[in-house]
Amino acid sequence: MNTFEKYRQFMITEFLGAIEPIVVAGGDGATLTDEAGRKYVDAFAGIAVCNAGHCNPEIAAAAHAQLDKLVHCGTYLYPHAPAADLAESLARILPGRLNKTFFASSGAEANETAIRLAKQFTGATEFLALHGAFHGRSLATLSLSGLASRKRGGGPYMPGVAFAPAPYCYRCALDLKPETCGLACAEMIEDILRCATSGDAAALIAEPIQGEGGIIAPPKGYFSAVKQILDRRGLLLILDEVQTGFCRTGAMFAMEHEGIEPDMITLGKGIANGLPLSAMVTRREIAAAFKAGDHLSTFGGNPVCCAAALAAIGFYQRERLAERSREKGEWLAAELRRRLEADRRVGEIRGRGLMIGIELVKDLSKAPAPELAGKVRALCRESGVLVGIGGIFGNVIRIEPPLVIGDDQLAQVADALCAALSKTGEGL
Ligand code: PMP
Repeated sequence: MNTFEKYRQFMITEFLGAIEPIVVAGGDGATLTDEAGRKYVDAFAGIAVCNAGHCNPEIAAAAHAQLDKLVHCGTYLYPHAPAADLAESLARILPGRLNKTFFASSGAEANETAIRLAKQFTGATEFLALHGAFHGRSLATLSLSGLASRKRGGGPYMPGVAFAPAPYCYRCALDLKPETCGLACAEMIEDILRCATSGDAAALIAEPIQGEGGIIAPPKGYFSAVKQILDRRGLLLILDEVQTGFCRTGAMFAMEHEGIEPDMITLGKGIANGLPLSAMVTRREIAAAFKAGDHLSTFGGNPVCCAAALAAIGFYQRERLAERSREKGEWLAAELRRRLEADRRVGEIRGRGLMIGIELVKDLSKAPAPELAGKVRALCRESGVLVGIGGIFGNVIRIEPPLVIGDDQLAQVADALCAALSKTGEGL
């Protein structure tokens, strides 16, 4: 039985629909190799994770060295140096007063921590979230996610959650134009607090750029307007940087583009370049709301993962990956816009750094084209380029490669996407 058949036979894969027909045997930089030795340019990085490249030698060496010293002791049972050093390093690279870290293992677990702590600090119990948001697959994080496609069949969800429209200008829920809207979707939060909660909201959770929701980057000033409203009302801002953190968007953290300091930030994915680690970082006085016995994680802050994360952060800084992500992202977005300008099925090309979305539509009516997105992804794969899909309609191609991707590989991504779109022709 081959790997593919074993997946079908012995793993729960029913939720996948079609399984991608590649059995991955190895990775190097922005390249994945399958069992038959065929190479692919990986423009999705394992869902925006391996920012420093697959099997980055420096990070692998740090993890190997730690494997031989200590694999596990329980970060919250006995202190160990890799967790302490990484927490110190996060406090240094995060702006402002964000300097107390809780380590967990997944993005969902970091967000669960933020949700719990926000309740304990404020004494309030309700939450606000955005349409199209994705915060994880646990019950509380799904409750705060605004994607029916991810929530189907899992309800009823946590009560006390109200949703606000996302700053999704291409499909503005308020039917306004970004040049003249006065950030009405941010201003609406005031109304939502007044009318859709019982006045007992602890926090708003949001991604600085929505990932699963289809690479939705807000217009300038959105988050500072939101933060002002929240501050006025005594609510916390939890910024979910699980997908946007660690240079993905052309800055170490996407909040830097917004010029705001959230009350809590959650990190995951790129933090350890593929080893399972996540973190929730907050201010000292908020962290103090946890009392003895309130929280823990068996695997959170695992020494091997922390050693890898320390090496990853060193690599991100030394190699100026934020800057490279910005430059490469700008080149790719411009190249795609130039070459796809005339194709009416390309509704919008958007994003920041190497977090780029191509929203595919049927025509000028903007009717979503998820079948076309599926076809484009399959054609790209056949030509040796791997891309992702997201969006509330499943019609957004996501390009989120390792940030070390070479210029020639980036050109290959552009070529594959343009060729796939031209092959599909009108009508799909
Ligand atoms: N938050 C965001 C913004 C994400 O993109 C994801 C994963 N796609 C998560 C949380 C959940 O992370 P994990 O799968 O590690 O729990």
